[in-house]
Amino acid sequence: MTRYPHLLAPLDLGFTTLKNRVLMGSMHTGLEETRDWNRVAEFYAERARGEVALMVTGGIGPNLEGSVLPGAAMMTTAQDVQNHSIVTARVHEAGGKIAMQILHAGRYAYGPKCVAPSAIKSPISPFPPTELDEDGIEKQIADIVNAAVLAREAGYDGVEIMGSEGYFINQFIVTHTNRRSDRWGGSYENRIRLPIEVVRRTRAAVGPDFIIIYRLSMIDLVPNGSTTEEVIRLAQEIEKAGATIINTGIGWHEARVPTIATSVPRRAFAWVTQKLMGHVSIPVITSNRINTPEVAEQVLAEGCADMVSMARPLLADAHFVRKSIEGKAAQIAPCIACNQACLDHTFSGKLTSCLVNPRACHETELVIEKVATPKSVAIVGAGPAGLSTAMTCAERGHKVTVFDKAGEIGGQLNMAKQIPGKEEFHGFVDWYRTMMDEMGIEVRLNTQVSADMLTGFDEVIVATGVLPRDPGIPGQDGPNVLSYIDVLAGRKPVGRRVAVVGAGGIGFDVSEFLVHEGHSPTESLPDWMREWGVADPAAHRGGLAPEGPQPDAPARQVTLLQRKAEKHGKRLGKTTGWIHRAALAMKNVDFVGGVNYERIDEKGLHVTFGAARENPTLIEADTIVLCAGQEPLRSLADDLAARGIAAHVIGGADVASELDAKRAIDQGTRLAARL
Ligand code: FAD
Ligand code: NAP
Ligand code: SF4
Repeated sequence: MTRYPHLLAPLDLGFTTLKNRVLMGSMHTGLEETRDWNRVAEFYAERARGEVALMVTGGIGPNLEGSVLPGAAMMTTAQDVQNHSIVTARVHEAGGKIAMQILHAGRYAYGPKCVAPSAIKSPISPFPPTELDEDGIEKQIADIVNAAVLAREAGYDGVEIMGSEGYFINQFIVTHTNRRSDRWGGSYENRIRLPIEVVRRTRAAVGPDFIIIYRLSMIDLVPNGSTTEEVIRLAQEIEKAGATIINTGIGWHEARVPTIATSVPRRAFAWVTQKLMGHVSIPVITSNRINTPEVAEQVLAEGCADMVSMARPLLADAHFVRKSIEGKAAQIAPCIACNQACLDHTFSGKLTSCLVNPRACHETELVIEKVATPKSVAIVGAGPAGLSTAMTCAERGHKVTVFDKAGEIGGQLNMAKQIPGKEEFHGFVDWYRTMMDEMGIEVRLNTQVSADMLTGFDEVIVATGVLPRDPGIPGQDGPNVLSYIDVLAGRKPVGRRVAVVGAGGIGFDVSEFLVHEGHSPTESLPDWMREWGVADPAAHRGGLAPEGPQPDAPARQVTLLQRKAEKHGKRLGKTTGWIHRAALAMKNVDFVGGVNYERIDEKGLHVTFGAARENPTLIEADTIVLCAGQEPLRSLADDLAARGIAAHVIGGADVASELDAKRAIDQGTRLAARL
């Protein structure tokens, strides 16, 4: 008897059956743009082997003006059909099903030729769009339909028509972006003409036995967005027009509410999809921050939807569904919703990967093979660098021993998990613990390793991490000065007024920790919604609370300082930096930049500004917390070198500058793949 009866139940679509209720949601990985179709095929085939019922590709443009970027993948030619058929054939061989997403970006298209219902520039694009005339609209519909017909020719099982997230079709639906007065604008009936026509004509062109998923924006999270009543009406029209399934879209890209970041509560928007249940007779899919089989099962059991869409969790673990079927849920590599290797890469023009699983989108390049002659491998340090190396070494057949001086594995991840909004890191460390047991890796905790303990191993890996950097501020040895480690380990009390020295990832996280005093809105959906100003779209257009965000008062008065004169948080994640900044701004954190740290005394932190050390200022503070970066902890590596014992040095012990768990894990996995 499975623990996931709803999740693993087949879904009969009439002309075809899906083997379970998991859809892999569309992700722009950048793979299609490599033009290496074997690589694209292997990415999807691996997930098909992992038993996901249906996958949706990244957004494929129906024409040049609608493509997200110049050079982005399109479906317009016979050559495109041939390329994509390599992917569909491989997926079908692996027993999977795949639909191609047709994405017309409208005013979000990054190029001067972008088009939209009205000539209103998006706040997240530098390009003002050209307003389409009626012929222009007809051309866009014809191109979308053509892309669907070609997708069928290429062997896809269906298409997803992207009607949400603020893209082209969504831009027609709301007055925020549609100011037309012809039959494509004005009344709601006119504004939804475009999606209905797109679906109706697509169905007519592809025939009855082809999946059409329509992705419908159920909560726009922008001013003048749709109401629930309008969403239901649109969904009913979309069903009549011939869609097979309705998928959920949450929030436009320009929305100022986080929708998928790690600080968003799990299943935060399932209640929004649920409002549609019972109003249409075709299956409805829910989405966003569903990342374990337990959560997915619960959402389905409660009747929030007929299926769940998970995208990033299938990057973290291609075999998510198979492991759920086999009762091995604890072995599923968790998506921690960090965006660091997926969306942040996409928005920086890099190929997608995954912090937790560096093989994601690198299936043909990072190959883990069994070794002919197993070696004994010692790994010092059970942070992410050491643990990922251990897992890959064990997978290859080596005999692995991991040492750590601490009483638990995880290294700095154990500090990260203390931060409000980073609760997912608990599951990340738990997963590593499960895998150590599962893979027969010997873990010796509470063991401070010295060089003489490492003789007799075939390979030695030093993953000893970092030391906090000493900023050398006069007075920093006073009783009112703490390091981030003291604070996060709860070793010393922190006063009400705090100056945080250093505004990198840790300075931001420590500030978040200090303003919350133990309570994390991520653990309470109503609190989180109030904090970000999210309301019920049945009552308020677009799901935006009229009173705006209503955060609780901060637990402390925090000043976050840096020496650089640039904007605070500029180097944080591309897709999450704004969230960290907004979250601290809501808690009245004072961002002070361009400082010189002059000295610390019992009154607080004395700073001056600029190269001329002007404007001496006292930041009054009861506690000063040092978050001034990190240096490699290399003493063991140096001792080994002095004794002539060969060792590989990885993670923070190798290079601390700009180190994060993504780099540590990638480096460890790649080293182990070569040993
Ligand atoms: P570490 O994690 O530092 O692990 C080193 C291990 O070696 C430790 O467990 C230590 O006890 C052990 N050790 C050292 N010397 C010895 C010895 N002689 N014998 C035995 N054991 C030894 N990164 C991200 O990517 N995303 C985030 O959101 C994020 N948030 C963070 C939040 C906070 C508050 C902190 C502190 C860090 C965060 N990081 C984040 C950074 C990330 O945790 C580190 O980059 C990563 O842990 C470095 O991995 P590592 O394995 O090299 O070192
Ligand atoms: P960091 O990002 O390098 O930031 C260090 C901060 O200290 C900077 O603001 C720097 O700014 C300041 N600083 C550097 N040298 C200083 C000195 N001598 N005196 C005073 N201030 C100094 O490092 P971190 O915050 O310690 O984070 C460590 C790593 O963990 C980072 O690489 C980060 O990527 C990772 N991390 C990631 C996340 C995440 O959410 N992705 C979260 C936490 C940590 P100025 O030089 O301008 O003063
Ligand atoms: Fe999830 Fe982070 Fe991996 Fe992206 S990089 S899939 S958010 S764990």
